[in-house]
Amino acid sequence: MTTKNIPTVKLLINGEFVESKTDQWREVINPATQEVLARVPFATPDEINAAIANAKEAFKTWRKTPIGARARIFLKYQQLIRENMKELAAILTAEQGKTLADAEGDVFRGLEVVEHASAVGNLQLGELANNVAGGVDTYTLLQPLGVCAGITPFNFPAMIPLWMFPMAIATGNTFVLKPSEQDPMVTMRLAELAMEAGIPAGVLNVIHGGVDAVNAVCDHPDIKAVSFVGSTHVGTHVYNRSSQAGKRVQCMMGAKNHAIVMPDANKEQTLNNLVGAAFGAAGQRCMALPVIILVGEARNWLPELARKAQTLKVSAGVEPGTDVGPVISTAALERVNGLIQKGVDEGAELVLDGRNPSVPGYEDGNFVGPTILAGVKPGMSVYDQEIFGPVLNVMQADSLDEAIEIINANPNGNGTAIFTRSGGIARRFQEEIDVGQVGINVPIPVPVPLFSFSGSRGSKLGDLGPYGKQVIMFYTQTKTVTARWFDDDEQAAAVNTTITLK
Ligand code: NAD
Repeated sequence: MTTKNIPTVKLLINGEFVESKTDQWREVINPATQEVLARVPFATPDEINAAIANAKEAFKTWRKTPIGARARIFLKYQQLIRENMKELAAILTAEQGKTLADAEGDVFRGLEVVEHASAVGNLQLGELANNVAGGVDTYTLLQPLGVCAGITPFNFPAMIPLWMFPMAIATGNTFVLKPSEQDPMVTMRLAELAMEAGIPAGVLNVIHGGVDAVNAVCDHPDIKAVSFVGSTHVGTHVYNRSSQAGKRVQCMMGAKNHAIVMPDANKEQTLNNLVGAAFGAAGQRCMALPVIILVGEARNWLPELARKAQTLKVSAGVEPGTDVGPVISTAALERVNGLIQKGVDEGAELVLDGRNPSVPGYEDGNFVGPTILAGVKPGMSVYDQEIFGPVLNVMQADSLDEAIEIINANPNGNGTAIFTRSGGIARRFQEEIDVGQVGINVPIPVPVPLFSFSGSRGSKLGDLGPYGKQVIMFYTQTKTVTARWFDDDEQAAAVNTTITLK
Protein backbone atom coordinates (compact mmCIF):
# COMPACT_ATOMS: atom_id res chain seq x y z
CA MET A 1 0.00 0.00 0.00
CA THR A 2 1.43 3.41 -0.83
CA THR A 3 1.19 6.18 1.74
CA LYS A 4 -1.58 7.68 -0.39
CA ASN A 5 -3.90 4.71 0.14
CA ILE A 6 -3.49 4.58 3.91
CA PRO A 7 -6.38 6.23 5.73
CA THR A 8 -5.55 9.28 7.81
CA VAL A 9 -6.78 9.97 11.32
CA LYS A 10 -8.65 13.28 11.42
CA LEU A 11 -8.62 16.14 13.88
CA LEU A 12 -11.93 17.25 15.40
CA ILE A 13 -12.10 21.01 15.47
CA ASN A 14 -15.29 23.03 15.87
CA GLY A 15 -17.53 20.08 15.04
CA GLU A 16 -15.68 19.12 11.82
CA PHE A 17 -13.47 16.07 11.28
CA VAL A 18 -10.64 17.67 9.32
CA GLU A 19 -7.41 16.59 7.67
CA SER A 20 -4.34 18.03 9.37
CA LYS A 21 -2.04 20.25 7.33
CA THR A 22 1.00 19.01 9.19
CA ASP A 23 4.01 17.41 7.54
CA GLN A 24 4.65 15.17 10.58
CA TRP A 25 2.83 11.86 10.62
CA ARG A 26 3.19 8.55 12.42
CA GLU A 27 1.87 5.15 11.47
CA VAL A 28 -0.77 3.32 13.50
CA ILE A 29 0.32 -0.32 13.38
CA ASN A 30 -1.53 -3.54 14.13
CA PRO A 31 0.72 -5.10 16.80
CA ALA A 32 -0.24 -8.66 15.83
CA THR A 33 0.61 -8.29 12.13
CA GLN A 34 2.60 -5.03 11.63
CA GLU A 35 -0.03 -3.96 9.09
CA VAL A 36 -0.19 -0.17 8.81
CA LEU A 37 -3.79 0.71 9.63
CA ALA A 38 -3.66 4.49 9.39
CA ARG A 39 -1.47 7.55 9.62
CA VAL A 40 -1.92 9.90 12.56
CA PRO A 41 -0.92 13.56 12.31
CA PHE A 42 1.08 15.59 14.78
CA ALA A 43 -1.14 18.66 14.79
CA THR A 44 0.45 22.03 14.01
CA PRO A 45 0.50 24.84 16.60
CA ASP A 46 -2.18 26.65 14.55
CA GLU A 47 -4.45 23.60 14.64
CA ILE A 48 -3.96 23.17 18.40
CA ASN A 49 -4.69 26.85 18.96
CA ALA A 50 -7.78 26.63 16.73
CA ALA A 51 -9.13 23.69 18.76
CA ILE A 52 -8.63 25.58 22.02
CA ALA A 53 -10.10 28.83 20.61
CA ASN A 54 -13.21 26.99 19.41
CA ALA A 55 -13.61 25.30 22.76
CA LYS A 56 -13.32 28.71 24.44
CA GLU A 57 -15.99 30.19 22.18
CA ALA A 58 -18.33 27.21 22.59
CA PHE A 59 -18.04 27.48 26.38
CA LYS A 60 -19.93 30.79 26.33
CA THR A 61 -23.16 29.03 25.40
CA TRP A 62 -22.51 25.47 26.55
CA ARG A 63 -22.04 26.52 30.20
CA LYS A 64 -25.61 27.85 30.19
CA THR A 65 -27.18 24.83 28.50
CA PRO A 66 -29.88 23.35 30.74
CA ILE A 67 -28.71 20.42 32.78
CA GLY A 68 -31.41 18.15 31.30
CA ALA A 69 -30.26 18.93 27.76
CA ARG A 70 -26.69 18.02 28.69
CA ALA A 71 -27.82 14.82 30.39
CA ARG A 72 -29.92 13.73 27.39
CA ILE A 73 -26.88 13.87 25.09
CA PHE A 74 -25.18 11.30 27.29
CA LEU A 75 -28.27 9.13 27.40
CA LYS A 76 -28.19 9.09 23.61
CA TYR A 77 -24.42 8.58 23.61
CA GLN A 78 -24.57 5.49 25.82
CA GLN A 79 -27.14 4.01 23.46
CA LEU A 80 -24.92 4.67 20.42
CA ILE A 81 -21.90 3.11 22.14
CA ARG A 82 -23.95 0.00 22.94
CA GLU A 83 -25.22 -0.26 19.35
CA ASN A 84 -21.67 0.04 17.99
CA MET A 85 -19.91 -2.08 20.62
CA LYS A 86 -18.71 -4.80 18.22
CA GLU A 87 -17.30 -2.30 15.74
CA LEU A 88 -15.56 -0.32 18.50
CA ALA A 89 -14.04 -3.50 19.92
CA ALA A 90 -12.81 -4.61 16.50
CA ILE A 91 -11.07 -1.26 15.86
CA LEU A 92 -9.54 -1.39 19.32
CA THR A 93 -8.23 -4.92 18.91
CA ALA A 94 -6.74 -4.13 15.52
CA GLU A 95 -4.75 -1.12 16.71
CA GLN A 96 -4.04 -2.07 20.35
CA GLY A 97 -3.79 -5.88 20.28
CA LYS A 98 -5.98 -6.93 23.22
CA THR A 99 -8.49 -9.73 22.71
CA LEU A 100 -11.96 -8.89 21.41
CA ALA A 101 -13.47 -9.75 24.79
CA ASP A 102 -10.99 -7.46 26.55
CA ALA A 103 -11.64 -4.75 23.99
CA GLU A 104 -15.36 -4.92 24.73
CA GLY A 105 -14.47 -4.67 28.42
CA ASP A 106 -12.37 -1.57 27.66
CA VAL A 107 -15.33 0.08 25.90
CA PHE A 108 -17.77 -1.10 28.56
CA ARG A 109 -15.83 0.39 31.48
CA GLY A 110 -15.91 3.71 29.60
CA LEU A 111 -19.59 3.27 28.82
CA GLU A 112 -20.29 3.08 32.55
CA VAL A 113 -18.83 6.57 32.93
CA VAL A 114 -21.04 7.82 30.09
CA GLU A 115 -24.05 6.40 31.94
CA HIS A 116 -22.82 8.19 35.05
CA ALA A 117 -22.53 11.46 33.07
CA SER A 118 -26.20 11.18 32.14
CA ALA A 119 -26.98 11.42 35.87
CA VAL A 120 -25.21 14.78 36.11
CA GLY A 121 -28.39 16.47 37.33
CA ASN A 122 -28.13 14.56 40.58
CA LEU A 123 -24.37 14.91 40.82
CA GLN A 124 -23.81 18.63 40.22
CA LEU A 125 -26.06 19.82 43.01
CA GLY A 126 -24.98 22.60 45.34
CA GLU A 127 -25.90 22.96 49.00
CA LEU A 128 -28.12 25.44 50.77
CA ALA A 129 -28.20 26.51 54.40
CA ASN A 130 -31.35 28.40 55.34
CA ASN A 131 -31.15 31.35 57.81
CA VAL A 132 -27.38 31.44 58.38
CA ALA A 133 -28.21 34.85 59.86
CA GLY A 134 -31.53 36.62 60.20
CA GLY A 135 -33.15 36.52 56.75
CA VAL A 136 -29.93 35.31 55.12
CA ASP A 137 -29.34 32.08 53.19
CA THR A 138 -26.05 30.68 51.92
CA TYR A 139 -25.84 28.33 48.98
CA THR A 140 -23.23 26.92 46.64
CA LEU A 141 -23.10 26.75 42.86
CA LEU A 142 -20.84 24.16 41.21
CA GLN A 143 -19.89 26.05 38.07
CA PRO A 144 -17.86 24.71 35.13
CA LEU A 145 -14.27 25.90 34.72
CA GLY A 146 -14.05 26.58 30.98
CA VAL A 147 -11.86 24.69 28.52
CA CYS A 148 -10.52 21.46 30.00
CA ALA A 149 -8.06 19.06 28.38
CA GLY A 150 -7.29 15.35 28.53
CA ILE A 151 -4.14 13.43 27.63
CA THR A 152 -4.54 9.65 27.43
CA PRO A 153 -2.31 6.53 27.24
CA PHE A 154 -2.31 3.67 24.76
CA ASN A 155 -3.47 0.86 27.02
CA PHE A 156 -7.17 1.79 27.37
CA PRO A 157 -7.90 3.87 24.26
CA ALA A 158 -11.68 3.70 24.81
CA MET A 159 -12.10 3.66 28.59
CA ILE A 160 -9.71 6.43 29.52
CA PRO A 161 -10.90 9.09 27.02
CA LEU A 162 -14.39 8.19 28.29
CA TRP A 163 -13.22 8.77 31.88
CA MET A 164 -12.52 12.34 30.86
CA PHE A 165 -14.62 14.18 28.29
CA PRO A 166 -18.13 12.94 29.21
CA MET A 167 -17.91 14.12 32.84
CA ALA A 168 -16.12 17.37 31.86
CA ILE A 169 -18.74 18.19 29.22
CA ALA A 170 -21.73 17.04 31.29
CA THR A 171 -20.68 19.48 34.02
CA GLY A 172 -20.73 22.34 31.48
CA ASN A 173 -17.10 22.54 30.34
CA THR A 174 -15.75 22.27 26.83
CA PHE A 175 -12.93 19.88 26.04
CA VAL A 176 -9.77 19.30 24.03
CA LEU A 177 -8.64 15.66 23.96
CA LYS A 178 -5.15 14.45 22.99
CA PRO A 179 -5.35 10.65 22.59
CA SER A 180 -2.37 8.32 22.47
CA GLU A 181 -0.67 8.56 19.10
CA GLN A 182 -0.14 4.79 19.21
CA ASP A 183 -3.84 3.86 18.92
CA PRO A 184 -6.07 6.87 18.24
CA MET A 185 -8.61 5.17 15.94
CA VAL A 186 -11.14 3.82 18.44
CA THR A 187 -10.98 7.14 20.28
CA MET A 188 -11.92 8.90 17.03
CA ARG A 189 -14.82 6.54 16.42
CA LEU A 190 -16.02 7.37 19.94
CA ALA A 191 -15.66 11.07 19.12
CA GLU A 192 -17.81 10.56 15.99
CA LEU A 193 -20.50 8.87 18.06
CA ALA A 194 -20.33 11.67 20.63
CA MET A 195 -21.01 14.22 17.89
CA GLU A 196 -23.83 12.04 16.57
CA ALA A 197 -25.31 12.01 20.08
CA GLY A 198 -25.64 15.78 19.87
CA ILE A 199 -22.54 17.36 21.38
CA PRO A 200 -22.49 20.83 19.80
CA ALA A 201 -19.63 22.08 17.60
CA GLY A 202 -16.62 23.23 19.60
CA VAL A 203 -17.67 21.52 22.84
CA LEU A 204 -15.51 18.45 22.10
CA ASN A 205 -12.30 18.83 20.08
CA VAL A 206 -9.60 16.27 19.39
CA ILE A 207 -6.01 17.00 18.46
CA HIS A 208 -3.25 14.49 17.86
CA GLY A 209 0.45 14.51 18.53
CA GLY A 210 3.14 13.81 21.08
CA VAL A 211 5.37 15.92 23.30
CA ASP A 212 4.72 19.23 21.52
CA ALA A 213 0.93 18.87 21.62
CA VAL A 214 1.07 17.91 25.30
CA ASN A 215 3.31 20.86 26.15
CA ALA A 216 1.03 23.22 24.21
CA VAL A 217 -1.93 21.98 26.28
CA CYS A 218 -0.01 22.42 29.55
CA ASP A 219 1.06 25.96 28.66
CA HIS A 220 -2.04 27.42 26.99
CA PRO A 221 -3.63 30.11 29.18
CA ASP A 222 -7.17 29.31 28.01
CA ILE A 223 -7.05 25.73 29.31
CA LYS A 224 -8.21 25.68 32.90
CA ALA A 225 -7.80 22.03 33.89
CA VAL A 226 -5.77 19.05 32.64
CA SER A 227 -6.49 15.36 33.22
CA PHE A 228 -3.60 13.06 32.42
CA VAL A 229 -3.31 9.28 32.49
CA GLY A 230 -0.03 7.64 31.54
CA SER A 231 3.46 6.90 32.79
CA THR A 232 4.94 8.44 35.91
CA HIS A 233 7.71 10.39 34.22
CA VAL A 234 5.37 12.03 31.68
CA GLY A 235 2.66 12.60 34.32
CA THR A 236 5.10 14.34 36.62
CA HIS A 237 6.17 16.58 33.75
CA VAL A 238 2.53 17.36 32.87
CA TYR A 239 1.68 18.04 36.52
CA ASN A 240 4.58 20.43 37.07
CA ARG A 241 4.20 22.25 33.78
CA SER A 242 0.42 22.66 34.05
CA SER A 243 0.55 23.66 37.72
CA GLN A 244 3.14 26.31 36.92
CA ALA A 245 0.74 27.65 34.31
CA GLY A 246 -1.93 27.95 37.03
CA LYS A 247 -4.12 25.03 36.00
CA ARG A 248 -5.98 22.45 37.99
CA VAL A 249 -4.33 19.07 37.28
CA GLN A 250 -4.97 15.40 37.99
CA CYS A 251 -2.38 12.83 36.90
CA MET A 252 -2.97 9.10 37.19
CA MET A 253 0.39 7.45 36.60
CA GLY A 254 2.49 4.32 36.68
CA ALA A 255 2.01 1.30 38.89
CA LYS A 256 3.59 -1.81 40.34
CA ASN A 257 0.68 -3.60 41.94
CA HIS A 258 1.29 -6.40 44.44
CA ALA A 259 -1.00 -9.19 45.57
CA ILE A 260 -0.52 -10.96 48.87
CA VAL A 261 -1.44 -14.64 48.84
CA MET A 262 -2.16 -16.00 52.33
CA PRO A 263 -1.96 -19.76 52.89
CA ASP A 264 -5.63 -19.89 53.96
CA ALA A 265 -6.85 -18.52 50.60
CA ASN A 266 -9.07 -20.58 48.29
CA LYS A 267 -6.22 -22.04 46.23
CA GLU A 268 -7.98 -22.76 42.94
CA GLN A 269 -9.83 -19.43 42.80
CA THR A 270 -6.74 -17.50 43.82
CA LEU A 271 -4.43 -19.05 41.23
CA ASN A 272 -6.99 -18.53 38.46
CA ASN A 273 -7.42 -14.90 39.47
CA LEU A 274 -3.67 -14.32 39.64
CA VAL A 275 -3.10 -15.77 36.18
CA GLY A 276 -5.81 -13.53 34.69
CA ALA A 277 -4.58 -10.41 36.46
CA ALA A 278 -0.88 -10.94 35.73
CA PHE A 279 -1.07 -11.99 32.08
CA GLY A 280 -4.44 -10.76 30.77
CA ALA A 281 -4.26 -7.83 28.33
CA ALA A 282 -0.58 -8.89 27.97
CA GLY A 283 0.12 -7.30 31.35
CA GLN A 284 -0.56 -3.85 29.90
CA ARG A 285 -3.12 -2.77 32.50
CA CYS A 286 -2.22 -0.15 35.07
CA MET A 287 -4.24 -2.31 37.49
CA ALA A 288 -2.56 -5.60 36.47
CA LEU A 289 -0.87 -7.66 39.17
CA PRO A 290 2.79 -7.96 38.13
CA VAL A 291 4.03 -8.87 41.65
CA ILE A 292 2.78 -11.53 44.05
CA ILE A 293 3.99 -12.17 47.56
CA LEU A 294 3.44 -15.75 48.66
CA VAL A 295 3.14 -15.97 52.42
CA GLY A 296 4.07 -19.07 54.43
CA GLU A 297 2.74 -22.33 52.97
CA ALA A 298 1.43 -20.50 49.89
CA ARG A 299 5.05 -20.57 48.67
CA ASN A 300 4.41 -24.14 47.60
CA TRP A 301 1.76 -23.02 45.10
CA LEU A 302 4.26 -21.64 42.60
CA PRO A 303 4.61 -24.80 40.42
CA GLU A 304 0.84 -25.00 40.01
CA LEU A 305 0.64 -21.30 39.16
CA ALA A 306 3.31 -21.81 36.49
CA ARG A 307 1.41 -24.80 35.06
CA LYS A 308 -1.75 -22.70 34.73
CA ALA A 309 0.16 -19.81 33.14
CA GLN A 310 1.72 -22.18 30.63
CA THR A 311 -1.68 -23.23 29.31
CA LEU A 312 -2.65 -19.70 28.25
CA LYS A 313 -2.98 -19.22 24.52
CA VAL A 314 -0.76 -16.54 23.02
CA SER A 315 -2.07 -15.21 19.72
CA ALA A 316 -3.70 -12.28 17.96
CA GLY A 317 -6.63 -10.71 19.77
CA VAL A 318 -8.98 -11.64 16.94
CA GLU A 319 -8.24 -15.37 17.25
CA PRO A 320 -10.84 -17.30 19.26
CA GLY A 321 -9.55 -18.54 22.61
CA THR A 322 -6.66 -16.10 22.81
CA ASP A 323 -5.66 -15.22 26.37
CA VAL A 324 -2.56 -13.13 25.74
CA GLY A 325 -2.33 -10.80 22.76
CA PRO A 326 0.72 -8.87 21.53
CA VAL A 327 2.32 -5.94 23.31
CA ILE A 328 1.76 -2.57 21.69
CA SER A 329 4.97 -2.09 19.65
CA THR A 330 8.23 -3.66 18.61
CA ALA A 331 9.95 -1.22 20.97
CA ALA A 332 7.77 -2.44 23.86
CA LEU A 333 8.56 -6.06 22.94
CA GLU A 334 12.29 -5.38 22.94
CA ARG A 335 12.03 -3.63 26.29
CA VAL A 336 10.04 -6.46 27.91
CA ASN A 337 12.39 -9.15 26.57
CA GLY A 338 15.38 -7.08 27.69
CA LEU A 339 14.00 -6.72 31.21
CA ILE A 340 13.36 -10.47 31.47
CA GLN A 341 17.01 -11.09 30.59
CA LYS A 342 18.10 -8.46 33.09
CA GLY A 343 16.02 -10.23 35.74
CA VAL A 344 17.93 -13.45 35.06
CA ASP A 345 21.26 -11.63 35.01
CA GLU A 346 20.46 -9.95 38.32
CA GLY A 347 19.74 -13.27 40.03
CA ALA A 348 16.01 -14.01 39.64
CA GLU A 349 14.94 -17.56 38.80
CA LEU A 350 13.21 -17.89 35.42
CA VAL A 351 10.37 -20.27 36.30
CA LEU A 352 8.54 -19.75 33.01
CA ASP A 353 10.14 -18.15 29.94
CA GLY A 354 7.60 -16.67 27.52
CA ARG A 355 10.08 -15.04 25.17
CA ASN A 356 9.83 -15.72 21.45
CA PRO A 357 6.68 -17.84 21.52
CA SER A 358 5.57 -19.61 18.38
CA VAL A 359 2.40 -17.93 17.09
CA PRO A 360 1.37 -19.61 13.82
CA GLY A 361 0.02 -17.12 11.29
CA TYR A 362 1.33 -14.11 13.24
CA GLU A 363 5.09 -14.59 12.99
CA ASP A 364 5.71 -10.81 12.85
CA GLY A 365 3.61 -9.91 15.90
CA ASN A 366 4.97 -8.36 19.10
CA PHE A 367 4.38 -11.47 21.20
CA VAL A 368 5.77 -12.45 24.54
CA GLY A 369 4.08 -15.22 26.48
CA PRO A 370 3.46 -15.52 30.21
CA THR A 371 6.76 -15.26 32.05
CA ILE A 372 7.41 -15.90 35.74
CA LEU A 373 10.46 -14.75 37.65
CA ALA A 374 10.86 -16.00 41.22
CA GLY A 375 13.17 -14.83 43.99
CA VAL A 376 12.64 -11.23 42.92
CA LYS A 377 13.89 -8.55 45.30
CA PRO A 378 13.82 -4.75 45.51
CA GLY A 379 16.84 -3.38 43.68
CA MET A 380 16.41 -5.74 40.70
CA SER A 381 15.40 -3.92 37.51
CA VAL A 382 12.36 -6.18 37.04
CA TYR A 383 11.08 -5.06 40.42
CA ASP A 384 12.08 -1.41 40.34
CA GLN A 385 10.69 -0.73 36.86
CA GLU A 386 7.16 -1.03 35.54
CA ILE A 387 7.53 -3.81 32.95
CA PHE A 388 4.09 -3.44 31.31
CA GLY A 389 4.18 -6.88 29.75
CA PRO A 390 3.02 -10.39 30.76
CA VAL A 391 5.77 -10.87 33.33
CA LEU A 392 5.02 -11.90 36.90
CA ASN A 393 7.49 -11.27 39.72
CA VAL A 394 7.20 -13.69 42.63
CA MET A 395 8.35 -12.74 46.11
CA GLN A 396 8.01 -14.49 49.46
CA ALA A 397 7.26 -13.43 53.01
CA ASP A 398 6.97 -15.18 56.36
CA SER A 399 4.03 -13.13 57.59
CA LEU A 400 1.31 -10.71 56.59
CA ASP A 401 3.14 -7.85 58.27
CA GLU A 402 6.31 -8.54 56.30
CA ALA A 403 4.30 -8.61 53.06
CA ILE A 404 2.57 -5.32 53.92
CA GLU A 405 5.95 -3.77 54.64
CA ILE A 406 7.23 -4.76 51.18
CA ILE A 407 4.22 -3.16 49.49
CA ASN A 408 4.32 0.03 51.53
CA ALA A 409 8.03 0.43 50.75
CA ASN A 410 7.37 0.37 46.99
CA PRO A 411 7.13 3.90 45.55
CA ASN A 412 3.88 3.15 43.67
CA GLY A 413 0.43 3.02 45.23
CA ASN A 414 -2.05 2.35 42.45
CA GLY A 415 -3.71 -1.00 43.25
CA THR A 416 -3.20 -4.04 45.42
CA ALA A 417 -5.04 -7.20 46.45
CA ILE A 418 -5.06 -9.84 49.14
CA PHE A 419 -6.29 -13.41 48.87
CA THR A 420 -7.47 -14.91 52.15
CA ARG A 421 -10.47 -16.52 53.82
CA SER A 422 -9.90 -14.60 57.04
CA GLY A 423 -11.93 -11.45 57.65
CA GLY A 424 -9.48 -10.34 60.32
CA ILE A 425 -6.49 -10.62 57.98
CA ALA A 426 -8.36 -8.81 55.19
CA ARG A 427 -9.34 -6.02 57.52
CA ARG A 428 -5.81 -5.57 58.84
CA PHE A 429 -4.55 -5.41 55.27
CA GLN A 430 -7.19 -2.85 54.33
CA GLU A 431 -6.24 -0.69 57.31
CA GLU A 432 -2.46 -0.88 57.03
CA ILE A 433 -1.83 -0.84 53.30
CA ASP A 434 -0.88 2.52 51.74
CA VAL A 435 -2.36 1.98 48.28
CA GLY A 436 -5.28 3.73 46.61
CA GLN A 437 -7.30 0.76 45.38
CA VAL A 438 -7.56 -2.37 47.45
CA GLY A 439 -8.99 -5.72 46.38
CA ILE A 440 -10.07 -8.40 48.84
CA ASN A 441 -10.21 -11.62 46.82
CA VAL A 442 -10.66 -9.28 43.83
CA PRO A 443 -7.53 -9.10 41.69
CA ILE A 444 -8.18 -5.90 39.70
CA PRO A 445 -10.16 -3.63 41.99
CA VAL A 446 -11.06 -0.83 39.55
CA PRO A 447 -13.99 1.03 41.12
CA VAL A 448 -17.25 1.50 39.22
CA PRO A 449 -18.17 5.14 38.51
CA LEU A 450 -20.28 5.51 41.64
CA PHE A 451 -16.84 5.85 43.23
CA SER A 452 -13.73 7.59 41.94
CA PHE A 453 -10.60 6.00 40.51
CA SER A 454 -7.90 6.47 43.07
CA GLY A 455 -4.20 5.88 43.66
CA SER A 456 -1.65 7.09 46.18
CA ARG A 457 2.01 8.01 46.52
CA GLY A 458 3.95 7.74 43.23
CA SER A 459 0.92 6.64 41.21
CA LYS A 460 -1.04 9.87 41.45
CA LEU A 461 -0.59 13.62 41.51
CA GLY A 462 -3.47 15.95 42.33
CA ASP A 463 -6.11 15.47 44.98
CA LEU A 464 -9.16 14.49 42.98
CA GLY A 465 -9.55 11.35 40.87
CA PRO A 466 -11.34 10.66 37.60
CA TYR A 467 -15.11 9.95 37.54
CA GLY A 468 -17.34 9.34 40.57
CA LYS A 469 -18.07 12.20 42.96
CA GLN A 470 -14.52 13.55 43.00
CA VAL A 471 -14.52 14.45 39.33
CA ILE A 472 -17.51 16.74 39.80
CA MET A 473 -15.34 18.76 42.17
CA PHE A 474 -12.41 18.56 39.75
CA TYR A 475 -14.37 19.94 36.80
CA THR A 476 -16.26 22.63 38.71
CA GLN A 477 -15.47 25.55 40.96
CA THR A 478 -17.57 26.16 44.00
CA LYS A 479 -19.14 29.58 44.27
CA THR A 480 -20.69 30.44 47.63
CA VAL A 481 -23.62 32.85 47.53
CA THR A 482 -24.81 34.55 50.68
CA ALA A 483 -28.14 36.25 49.98
CA ARG A 484 -30.54 38.48 51.80
CA TRP A 485 -33.80 39.70 50.28
CA PHE A 486 -35.51 42.70 51.77
CA ASP A 487 -39.24 43.05 52.05
CA ASP A 488 -40.38 46.15 50.18
CA ASP A 489 -41.31 47.92 53.41
CA GLU A 490 -38.17 46.96 55.31
CA GLN A 491 -36.29 50.06 56.55
CA ALA A 492 -33.40 48.71 58.62
CA ALA A 493 -30.30 50.89 58.52
CA ALA A 494 -27.30 48.77 57.68
CA VAL A 495 -24.00 50.39 58.57
CA ASN A 496 -22.18 47.24 59.49
CA THR A 497 -22.35 44.95 56.45
CA THR A 498 -20.78 41.98 58.21
CA ILE A 499 -23.35 39.31 58.91
CA THR A 500 -23.26 38.31 62.53
CA LEU A 501 -24.58 35.00 63.67
CA LYS A 502 -27.02 35.47 66.51
P1 NAD B 1 2.92 7.58 28.23
O1 NAD B 1 3.18 8.35 29.46
O2 NAD B 1 4.06 7.21 27.36
O3 NAD B 1 1.90 8.40 27.28
C1 NAD B 1 0.76 9.02 27.81
C2 NAD B 1 0.46 10.27 26.99
O4 NAD B 1 1.53 11.20 27.13
C3 NAD B 1 0.29 9.99 25.50
O5 NAD B 1 -0.81 10.74 25.02
C4 NAD B 1 1.61 10.46 24.89
O6 NAD B 1 1.44 11.02 23.61
C5 NAD B 1 2.06 11.54 25.85
N1 NAD B 1 3.53 11.59 25.97
C6 NAD B 1 4.41 10.57 25.81
N2 NAD B 1 5.67 11.00 26.05
C7 NAD B 1 5.58 12.30 26.37
C8 NAD B 1 6.53 13.29 26.74
N3 NAD B 1 7.84 13.01 26.80
N4 NAD B 1 6.10 14.54 27.03
C9 NAD B 1 4.78 14.86 26.96
N5 NAD B 1 3.84 13.94 26.60
C10 NAD B 1 4.23 12.69 26.32
O7 NAD B 1 2.07 6.29 28.68
P2 NAD B 1 1.67 5.04 27.80
O8 NAD B 1 2.89 4.24 27.52
O9 NAD B 1 0.81 5.47 26.67
O10 NAD B 1 0.74 4.25 28.84
C11 NAD B 1 1.22 3.34 29.77
C12 NAD B 1 1.46 4.00 31.11
O11 NAD B 1 0.24 4.57 31.60
C13 NAD B 1 1.87 3.00 32.19
O12 NAD B 1 2.85 3.62 33.00
C14 NAD B 1 0.59 2.77 32.99
O13 NAD B 1 0.78 2.35 34.32
C15 NAD B 1 0.00 4.13 32.94
N6 NAD B 1 -1.43 4.09 33.18
C16 NAD B 1 -1.88 4.53 34.39
C17 NAD B 1 -3.24 4.48 34.68
C18 NAD B 1 -3.75 4.95 35.99
O14 NAD B 1 -4.94 5.13 36.12
N7 NAD B 1 -2.91 5.14 37.00
C19 NAD B 1 -4.13 3.98 33.71
C20 NAD B 1 -3.63 3.56 32.48
C21 NAD B 1 -2.27 3.61 32.22
